[in-house]
Amino acid sequence: MMNGYLDESDFTMVEEGFTTRDLLDNLLMEVSQTTSKGAFFVADLGDVVKKHLRFLKALPHVKPFYAVKCNGSRGVVRTLAELGAGFDCASKAEMALVQSIGVPPAKIIYTNPCKQISQIRYAASHGVQLMAFDNEVELGKVARSHPRARMVLCIATDSSRPSASLSVKFGAPLKSCRRLLEMAKEMNVEIVGVSFHVSGGGIDPQAFTRSIADARLVFEMGAELGYKLCLLDIGGGFPGTENSSVRFEEIAATINSALDLYFPEGCGVEIIAKPGRYYVASAFTLAVTVISKQEVPWDLLSSDDEEPSRKKSFLYYINDGLYGSFSCIFFDHTCPTPVLHKKPCPDPPLFSSSLWGPSCDGQDRIADGLELPELQVGDWLTFENMGAYSIAAASSFNGYQQPQISYAMSRVAWEALQLLPGKLAQPEEEDRVRVCTPLSCGWEIADILCITPVFAPARIT
Ligand SMILES: *Cc1c(COP(=O)(O)O)cnc(C)c1O
Repeated sequence: MMNGYLDESDFTMVEEGFTTRDLLDNLLMEVSQTTSKGAFFVADLGDVVKKHLRFLKALPHVKPFYAVKCNGSRGVVRTLAELGAGFDCASKAEMALVQSIGVPPAKIIYTNPCKQISQIRYAASHGVQLMAFDNEVELGKVARSHPRARMVLCIATDSSRPSASLSVKFGAPLKSCRRLLEMAKEMNVEIVGVSFHVSGGGIDPQAFTRSIADARLVFEMGAELGYKLCLLDIGGGFPGTENSSVRFEEIAATINSALDLYFPEGCGVEIIAKPGRYYVASAFTLAVTVISKQEVPWDLLSSDDEEPSRKKSFLYYINDGLYGSFSCIFFDHTCPTPVLHKKPCPDPPLFSSSLWGPSCDGQDRIADGLELPELQVGDWLTFENMGAYSIAAASSFNGYQQPQISYAMSRVAWEALQLLPGKLAQPEEEDRVRVCTPLSCGWEIADILCITPVFAPARIT
């Protein structure tokens, strides 16, 4: 049963016995014959399917609304729509993007708490009702420009940690919530729920517990004022790769305990989340090529090495950088590490190496202190886990053009996608947020998917 957002022409089907890595190798084989190929991505949409199944299994009472700002690429948005996820949009452009492929407005939440009036009007005229706010001024704007809005009060998360830096800019402190709820009453703005967002990749699962408890307090305040709040939004911040300090399942277990305590099943509150990086980080691999190199004396970078063969080091210039796909380095503090495509001879001498982007900015450095065999102009390097806040935050500085994306999916993932029972629900029949029912069958295929290394490259650096 297909929803029609994604079909087989949108990606390369990876048949049994092959992996997405093989596809990447094939593409690299082809491009190494030509010299003009730019950097490109291979996106494993099956990995997104796998993440969705993991999400439904770990958080069975929570409905995911994908945070489009993290990676709004066509294949990702179509796959998530096909999976029945909802969408968290930060702007008019993001709402237009998901609506352009046919996602109904009931599956969209417009969460930027500080919105331009013209964009509030856009939401109103395009049927998007769920919106977030955290201040008085915003309530006034919504009362005038979108009287049918269903508002979610965004509360601050514990901002005592530096990782929670978003809370300085966004989120109402608990002590102003009552006042905001009262103001909304006066202005006739409908409040339907409470949201929060723990930023920083979910490093501290207890942050979710504290925020869920805080949200409960706001629900109580609402009840005292005569509100019947029915929606809790627990935000995003779940890790998207296996090398994070806390596993997604561990965070999910903490969230489930807190939900059992403060929002038990049957309490009449619908729970949603807004995962971004979780869905896309590991699905994207970036391939870049060395466009130039420079040999520098070893002692320019360090002086404590005695081996004569190491008395030199290299600066390599590659065709994507900090102002392009590697923008995640400064937006998301990632430390990308390259995988060499060409197998070097056994035990090659290693040289201290650094990687630099193609722009004219001296700050455009991607990695440093790497121990690599000597590379040549035209050699290809790949970087894994490049799906989150990479292309989404790229600029056109120095005339940079975004890399092409080759989408792929294994047949088993494609089949799992079609078995998802939650997709049978017809969104048109629903007036409330109803994204997907938890998976009641098909776990067998889910388990197969989640243990098969669909994308398991052999590391050779
Ligand atoms: C960016 C954002 C998200 C998604 O964050 P991830 O860390 O990518 O999961 C969710 N909610 C809000 C309010 C955000 O601003």
